[in-house]
Amino acid sequence: LAAERERYRDRTPNSERLADSLRSFVPAGVCSTYRAYEPYPIHADRAEGATLYDIDGESYLDFALNNGTQLVGHAHPRLSEAAKVQIDQGTLYTRPSELLEFAARPLIDRWEAIERVRFTNSGTESVMHATRLARAYTGREKIVRMEGAYHGAHDPGLVSKMPPVDRAGPADDPRPVKESQGVPDGVPENMLLAQYNDAESVERLLREHGSEIAGILVEPACLNLGLVEPEGDFLFRLRELADEYDVVLIFDEVKTGVKLAPGGGAEYYGVQPDLVALAKAIGGGYPVGAFGGRRELMSLIADDLEDETASGAAHYGTYNGNPLALRAVGVTLGEILTTEAYDHVTTLAERLADGYRDVIDDAGLEGHVVTAGSQGMVYFTDKRIRTFRDWGAIDEEFHEAYWLGMVNRNVLPHPHDASQQWTVSVQHTAADIDTHVTAFADLASDLA
Ligand code: PLP
Repeated sequence: LAAERERYRDRTPNSERLADSLRSFVPAGVCSTYRAYEPYPIHADRAEGATLYDIDGESYLDFALNNGTQLVGHAHPRLSEAAKVQIDQGTLYTRPSELLEFAARPLIDRWEAIERVRFTNSGTESVMHATRLARAYTGREKIVRMEGAYHGAHDPGLVSKMPPVDRAGPADDPRPVKESQGVPDGVPENMLLAQYNDAESVERLLREHGSEIAGILVEPACLNLGLVEPEGDFLFRLRELADEYDVVLIFDEVKTGVKLAPGGGAEYYGVQPDLVALAKAIGGGYPVGAFGGRRELMSLIADDLEDETASGAAHYGTYNGNPLALRAVGVTLGEILTTEAYDHVTTLAERLADGYRDVIDDAGLEGHVVTAGSQGMVYFTDKRIRTFRDWGAIDEEFHEAYWLGMVNRNVLPHPHDASQQWTVSVQHTAADIDTHVTAFADLASDLA
């Protein structure tokens, strides 16, 4: 790790200088704390297609793709052209327009569960509104969520996202842990923790607190623990339990969204929730989110208009459904992410996973690869990660050496951090995949 850090520094002096300067007036020199890492982040100059260029003149084959938002790759020509048209026609009206239908239709077509939809500006907002709606609908306050999952930067999202295990209590009775100062005490009280891939842990909470529980919040595949897929009938059981206890099943598809399949994790794993939270890849790189779901739930948002005696559930926002974001969603989903595009990214993602498996075998490294749709992840352990409490098997320092080693070989293998996964975009080619695998093969002998 020390040698890779040294090499990284030698290659990126301009980034180091800019980081030093930015840190004096921007905390950690970044605008999302997650982006800061040692020794300092690469500072971008521009990005195009499958490549990111930095301010030291280096270029990187990009599989991090801005935390996976860029399933369409960077600056997709069709999207850039559409954005330019919209910029000339105005970027904010507040008035609804035909663009609302242009953006909403593909979401309604892709998710069986989405009968009605509203747009937001981020995943955080989408999850926040979906959970509030579940509370408004049921008149209850508690949300069951999986320990170790990330659901956004709002207060409830920061409860037990990746808690230190020594403060988190036993796996079968986890204690909610605040992971930010400033989160009020009442927030963890309303989050009940279960373990991903353990339906029994969810059932136990429902048996004990059913009358207080508004919803079950879950990512169909856990994409903040690398790539953890639901095993066996886990998601089916959640659907059954939500029906049995009359609680709202919320899928956080901010990451799985349109990336596992056109209709996200719901389609990929064949289970439909009641509400879906979306963001990231639906906008092709423009900041946008959405939440949608069953008619009777979503209609609650406008109850106060339709029935003056009902309280309704609030959903407001100056930038919600702005024309630039809506055009980006419509073009991304309606024109770029076609069936052929999904075939392309899935085929290349499998090629990448197979390449990694061969290198791991040849180099005698301990590790395994998981892939689903356009997503994939290498874990440098033979232990299968099924749930947050398996995370102790990850050697984060080793993973960091791998990550920096790949960056030093001009490949951004995934967003920084062992908890993140790669995305293969529509603008990657088979040759890009082979370049990525060759870089990993070159590094593997150092890692072994
Ligand atoms: N939910 C999940 C599963 C996420 O991974 C994220 C962000 O990474 C969010 C919600 C929050 O989305 P945003 O960063 O757009 O607010």
